[in-house]
Amino acid sequence: MRAFLSALCLAALACGPAPAPPVRVMAIIPVETGSYETREVQLQTIGNLTTLKGAVAELVGVTRVTLDPNDPLQRGGIENLTEEQRYEVLVKDKGADVRGNYLERSGVYWPADFHTWNMVTTYWNFENAYLYFQDLAASQVPTQTPDELNKMKVMYWTELRLNSDQPVTDNALYLSFIKAFTITPFKNESKVPLPMNLGVIGHEVAHKVFSKRVFNDEGIPLPIRTWSGEAFNLLKSLDEGLADFHGFGTTCRSLSGCRPDILAVSISDEAYARQRDVSRADACMDEGLRQALKTFNQDMWIRGREMYLYGNLWASTLYQAGSKAGGLPKVKSLQVALLGAYNDERSQSPGLSQLITRNVNNQMAFTPEAVAEVIASHVADVDLRRAFCSEAMDRLQLQCMRTDCADKMPSCPGTTRRGTTCKVLPPLP
Ligand SMILES: [Zn+2]
Repeated sequence: MRAFLSALCLAALACGPAPAPPVRVMAIIPVETGSYETREVQLQTIGNLTTLKGAVAELVGVTRVTLDPNDPLQRGGIENLTEEQRYEVLVKDKGADVRGNYLERSGVYWPADFHTWNMVTTYWNFENAYLYFQDLAASQVPTQTPDELNKMKVMYWTELRLNSDQPVTDNALYLSFIKAFTITPFKNESKVPLPMNLGVIGHEVAHKVFSKRVFNDEGIPLPIRTWSGEAFNLLKSLDEGLADFHGFGTTCRSLSGCRPDILAVSISDEAYARQRDVSRADACMDEGLRQALKTFNQDMWIRGREMYLYGNLWASTLYQAGSKAGGLPKVKSLQVALLGAYNDERSQSPGLSQLITRNVNNQMAFTPEAVAEVIASHVADVDLRRAFCSEAMDRLQLQCMRTDCADKMPSCPGTTRRGTTCKVLPPLP
């Protein structure tokens, strides 16, 4: 018994420090100049600093995830597996606890190696994305909590293959089909790795929120399987564009202040980073994008950049409407309204989830105008709603140009005028 006890104590010591939160640690974060530097931060929700597990996120190390249609276990279609079976089949190596190593100096824990720096920063990023959504949820009437973001599973340094022999690198993803986040290995040495970018983690966490609230936490939702053409493309772009909008919102929590161009610090393609900037004043639908939206099949839309560019029109619509109606506080009001619009069973106005569920067998009813109406109906402030409607009609080329919107978008005030940033495209042939 004595030997057993001392073995336990040794094991406990070997587990490393587990100070009670808030814990002062060094992490790599965006600072005042906009660059990423090592700074002291506080982790408010960490339970075990060594294994990087806490109330909002739990890191798991060295997992292997393989999506492969030639895998005999996946050949019948992973959508036909139960959630548990899917996890069992796709997560080839379930991984184990990570282990962070630290040096303590005056009550501050300094990561002692490369992976510990990354893992602490990753936890801090997830914690801040959580706090961003907690704030939006607490601003709902009645108030809500982001329960879907408790103990988010974060696979660290995953060997991830998505229908390819080549493993994914330099990325962070939310894999809705196994309900886990993954931080893949990074090779990018010149810029901030995407998985270390706070705005990118905000984007990924936004996917989980969308998945939970809009798709009722279905790993592979029915409309994603059965819709095609414009309805499918619109749905995927909304998920991406709104994730960029929330990713930007998450950055507002950092010392650098709000960064609407979340990709700029991480990718070398500056033109593309600018196209994804949610504050883009010149974001407009053009004929090429409209054609793609209406004609691309699922595969073309997911593989091309059009999915993100059309999503950006939604994000820019929201950002510009808020900015013009009163600056960042109004942009935040729209983030709150948007979260409320994801799922709404209580009020007279259906949420996106209700719009999709009602029309799951009638995808023609899932139109940009119907989506804009759902969002508008959740904006309580009339001036802000008018600004949103005005920007949406303009940038998204909605099919109600001036005051004749009463049927398609009854929530838009009668005094709404279409914005004047974008030229009106000729009618479709
Ligand atoms: Zn995304």
